[in-house]
Amino acid sequence: MIVNLILMGAPGAGKGTHAKDISRQFNIPHISTGDILREEVSKGTELGKTAKSYMDAGKLLPDDIIIKIIKGRLQKDDCKSGYLFDGFPRTLVQAEKLDIISSIESVIYLKCNDDILIKRLTGRRIADDGKIYNIYFDPPPEGIKTYQRDDDNEETIRERLKIFYSTFIPIMDFYKKLNIFQEIRGDDERAVVYEKILSILEDLKKG
Ligand code: AMP
Repeated sequence: MIVNLILMGAPGAGKGTHAKDISRQFNIPHISTGDILREEVSKGTELGKTAKSYMDAGKLLPDDIIIKIIKGRLQKDDCKSGYLFDGFPRTLVQAEKLDIISSIESVIYLKCNDDILIKRLTGRRIADDGKIYNIYFDPPPEGIKTYQRDDDNEETIRERLKIFYSTFIPIMDFYKKLNIFQEIRGDDERAVVYEKILSILEDLKKG
């Protein structure tokens, strides 16, 4: 089954976590613009230098930069059997441009309560192997070295949430008109959320 998906949700809604599971199960690449940008930052490229200032402030990068990244990424061979976007599109312009170069079949929105989002983000800690812990819900075992994302501080988190809500409605309306938008609760237990995602994907398969 070729499937082109978007997982939407505020920062901390669990997009990255579920995207990794979907990507593994359906063998499609997980395309996270945030991950791509963080890699550029860590490599110290020109793009990374530009990206860092926006990311540290919790602001969105300009649409043309993001679209260029996505166009390049979709050219790669691994996208032939489908792909899953996480953290993209973040603006209506990005959604409209994506519509020209891709054919999205399903947009799943993980809706979460803000208090949970803030706890998930302020508590998020990442181990060197990429495993994500949370000091409140799932603390790292003793001896495991973790780090915190530069933008996971309360001030930046509030800015990221504000921007998310201000850009979300037009994107949601855009996909609702295309009849491909579905909303599920993202603050249920991980397994429950994943089951709901799988059931949406099952329905897609049935057509
Ligand atoms: P994320 O890992 O998805 O939370 O993204 C981290 C940061 O990367 C965001 O706060 C933005 O600064 C930037 N970013 C990621 N994806 C996008 C996008 N689609 N459009 C603009 N900026 C983005």
